[in-house]
Amino acid sequence: MKQAGNQTNQKLRIIPLGGLGEIGMNCLVIEYGQDLVLIDCGVQFPDSHWPGMDILVPDFDYVRQKLSNLRAVIVTHGHDDHIGAIPYLLKEKQLDIYATPFPTGLISQKLTEHSDLNEVRFHKIENRKKFKVGPFTFDPIPVQHSIIEALAFAIETPVGTLIHSGDFKHDAHETSQGMIGFEPFEEWGKKGVALLLSDSTNAERPGHTLSEMEIKQSFEQILKRQKSRMIIALFASNIKRVEKLLQLAHEQGKKVAFGGRSMHSYTKLAFEQNSLSIPPETLVLLEHIGQYPDDKVIVLVTGSQAEPQSALLRISEGIHKDFQIRPGDLVVMSSRFIPGNERAITKMIDQLYRAGAEVLYESIHQVHVSGHGQQEELLMMLKATRPKYFIPIHGAYRHLSKHAGLAKESGVQPENIKVIEDGQIVELSKDGLEIGERLELNRGVVVGTSFVEGSPDVFSQRSNLSKTGVVFAVFMRDSKSLKLIAPPSVYPYGLMYFRGENPEHVAQDAEDHLEDIYYDAMHSGELEETLRLEGRRFYKKRASHKPVFIPLVLDV
Ligand SMILES: [Zn+2]
Ligand SMILES: [Zn+2]
Repeated sequence: MKQAGNQTNQKLRIIPLGGLGEIGMNCLVIEYGQDLVLIDCGVQFPDSHWPGMDILVPDFDYVRQKLSNLRAVIVTHGHDDHIGAIPYLLKEKQLDIYATPFPTGLISQKLTEHSDLNEVRFHKIENRKKFKVGPFTFDPIPVQHSIIEALAFAIETPVGTLIHSGDFKHDAHETSQGMIGFEPFEEWGKKGVALLLSDSTNAERPGHTLSEMEIKQSFEQILKRQKSRMIIALFASNIKRVEKLLQLAHEQGKKVAFGGRSMHSYTKLAFEQNSLSIPPETLVLLEHIGQYPDDKVIVLVTGSQAEPQSALLRISEGIHKDFQIRPGDLVVMSSRFIPGNERAITKMIDQLYRAGAEVLYESIHQVHVSGHGQQEELLMMLKATRPKYFIPIHGAYRHLSKHAGLAKESGVQPENIKVIEDGQIVELSKDGLEIGERLELNRGVVVGTSFVEGSPDVFSQRSNLSKTGVVFAVFMRDSKSLKLIAPPSVYPYGLMYFRGENPEHVAQDAEDHLEDIYYDAMHSGELEETLRLEGRRFYKKRASHKPVFIPLVLDV
């Protein structure tokens, strides 16, 4: 017979499906008994290892096996690396989503781009108003970040309290978002925190993030000295920064126009939800800015990362329909260069200079601060919560590892600190925190708005194709005698030859060579494989790479 007391021996399982050991795609499973919840469900944008693929989403296999037990998705904030994959999970199952209004609005906008989704039920989160999902009680704690309505959670579970930091920083001078202190974390620290899971994005950076107030002062000076039109590139999701710029512009009697689809959609949503105040007679349409003197014109645009199709990239290429750079224009990049995007950004900056603009960016001027806390702030979180166990989250391995070092410094027992990566299950019970099995994860791959399937083999084939090119070779033969009825023909695609080579000569030589090979191997059981290997070998000598080689032997 089962005893009720068994319950306390149950283990809480924590399973990162993304965001640990990599940047982006944050998604964490918390499971106890028959119940599981997800904290965040984000995407990642693929690099050149994923040619032609649009977004990557977490591997939902583990969740898929337990779909009927999935109680809810709990959202910390509205950045895409926290909410972007929700529509893809909604293809599997109807969902209960707990979020504050701003991310709720952003998720709703995303859902309109899909047609094959299950029903969604939104539950509104309010700061510090506890809610219960299955065996878990969540206390939403507001934190500062580069988007409004960012939350951390204290999560009461049958085996103790967890703190999930979300993405956070501490900006003591920024009072516009209400909560500035760590009091709620200290409260929980006093009651006892079993496990802290905390944002590691900036764990390599010493000190404290600059205050957004310093950004405001920088911009105040830049605006005062403004002589020409000014274009400011920033993330549209950074509503508070947009609001500050609008306010500064208003104070100095200037006009602001928005450029870029997400600049319009994020600000519209925030305005409708009363989270963005727009001073009177400040906002104008981009196509009307010609009516104002140059030193009164400010354009806020997306594209600080030189994203394809973004407003600033199109402006830099001279193909934006409502705005062309003129000599003397000033462009301010109010965001950091995200690693991986530097080349595209510097190329864009060059184009802006070529068109006659001046460009200011972070390394020279204080026009951006990060939304993620640096070492001092991470230590504040550790000291406030005083956790027994610690797992660093949200970061590449080096960030997690640095953060673990800070935890040790703050007094967490070294054996109670676990640096884990995606797929590694950890189990928390009254007896302690243990490392469990490790899931093998394959990311979900999306093209357009649809999942596509591909094994690791297929992904490496695609990547090879893009590097080496491909050659088809057609062998037409008599089905009885097996003799070729015409010489073989090769069809190279995407090949590069050594300088001085004539591609037509190479093709002719390849056809002659393959004809010999054909007759040598025509009776062997491995004719096609032999042709394939010989074809590759031939092209290796005459072209830049061994191509993908596909022989087609046709019986006539
Ligand atoms: Zn974030
Ligand atoms: Zn994040």
